[in-house]
Amino acid sequence: MRINASSHVPYLFARRHLRSLALMVALLLAAGTSASGPQPQDSWLDGYRPMAQRVIDTSLGAPFAWRRLAELTDTFGPRFSGSANLEHAIRWAEAEMKRDGLENVRLQPVHVPRWVRGTENLEIVEPVPSSLAMLGLGGSVATPADGLRAELLVVGSFEDLRSRITDARGKIVLFNAPFTSYSETVTYRTNSASEAASAGAVAALVRSVGGMGLRTPHTGMMVYSEDVPKIPAAAISAEDAERLARMQARDGHVELRLRMGAQTLPDAQSANVIGEITGHERPEEIVLVGGHIDSWDVGTGASDDGVGCVVTWEALRLMKALDLRPRRTVRVVLFTNEENGLRGGLGYRDAFAEEAAQHVLALESDSGVFAPLRLGYTGPDRGLQTLSDIATLLTRLGIDRVGAGGGGADISPIARAGNVPMMSLGGDPRRYFTIHHTQADTIERITSDEVSRAAAAIAVVAYIVADMPQRLGAYTATN
Ligand SMILES: [Zn+2]
Repeated sequence: MRINASSHVPYLFARRHLRSLALMVALLLAAGTSASGPQPQDSWLDGYRPMAQRVIDTSLGAPFAWRRLAELTDTFGPRFSGSANLEHAIRWAEAEMKRDGLENVRLQPVHVPRWVRGTENLEIVEPVPSSLAMLGLGGSVATPADGLRAELLVVGSFEDLRSRITDARGKIVLFNAPFTSYSETVTYRTNSASEAASAGAVAALVRSVGGMGLRTPHTGMMVYSEDVPKIPAAAISAEDAERLARMQARDGHVELRLRMGAQTLPDAQSANVIGEITGHERPEEIVLVGGHIDSWDVGTGASDDGVGCVVTWEALRLMKALDLRPRRTVRVVLFTNEENGLRGGLGYRDAFAEEAAQHVLALESDSGVFAPLRLGYTGPDRGLQTLSDIATLLTRLGIDRVGAGGGGADISPIARAGNVPMMSLGGDPRRYFTIHHTQADTIERITSDEVSRAAAAIAVVAYIVADMPQRLGAYTATN
């Protein structure tokens, strides 16, 4: 997400001139009656300054949202699709939203896929036995019950494998591609199994998609191509990938044993959790905010994406607590099954297909809240200008602009269906991807200040977009 500083500068410049013109007119008018009349409104935003102040003071004043995230992650732990933990967390969230006084709180039923990891391990057999930390990749098939023993082949990339294709037959292929960015490196997690299988390999290992951590493997979703055999796939830590690469370079011969008991079971029943602050003038128009309540089956899903659920939900709780009711409806959705199916986002789109175009804005928080916070936006230029104005109210939170490019996996289906502008609120990607999909994704990494800041930012943006007379990004025809 790059910051688009240049696009709104001319706009602000013009705006300032208009403002001084309006001021002069107002002063001339006032001069005819009284020398000290009321100050003219110098910006459409001024009416919202006291609200923003109150929201930020309240949110920063108590660690309510951090405590709620602690309760969610301590009580229910990991919340993988198809698990009892996830369903208990969903029912808890529904009950808590009702306790907050949110309106129209309900569950929207969704069927979700169910993949179960089972028992798994990986060890070096030759030259000297040694166990390695690993995590099977979501969607992978199992190995035979007593495991799979084969020689290792380390490659640096898909191209590297293709250039040594005759070496891969019958081997366990490790893709040791260093992490650059998530969007670039994730292809190894997604596609390594089929690339290795097409070269005749018996299993695929991938260097985890994340920076060098604390010898932590990162799990995540993988996908099989139709036309090649399905072979087991697992992630190992960056450190172990480097170790295996050095061993192969030095000794030539390394043998591994991989055991995975993974299973794909029939779909399970789950639900999206929905709560609202109903609009007082145009309740049918919706500002949607949310995150996903499911997580991977390791860690406690604090950063991905318990915190996204909590900060978007907190935005509505703050509005309720401060008696703020905007013109339009603000709706929070805690989506189910983002991680291994996106059924929550797709189910939401299907359930609200007829109201898709009534969504004014959809904002998702699904990349952490590690400082510094960033807001991103995708939609008509006019919307970016308005949001950049709103961002000037967020400087106390460490945000002063809105970058070009924003969205989220769960909100994309409804956004596409209704041509809805999208926003994302996220944090420092380096900290986020160090713990992403690992046992280390726990609340200890996240400060209460970071959670409070994110919640306040979402509350201010969502409230103003829901309340301003003009629909966000309207007049797109003139763009
Ligand atoms: Zn996520």
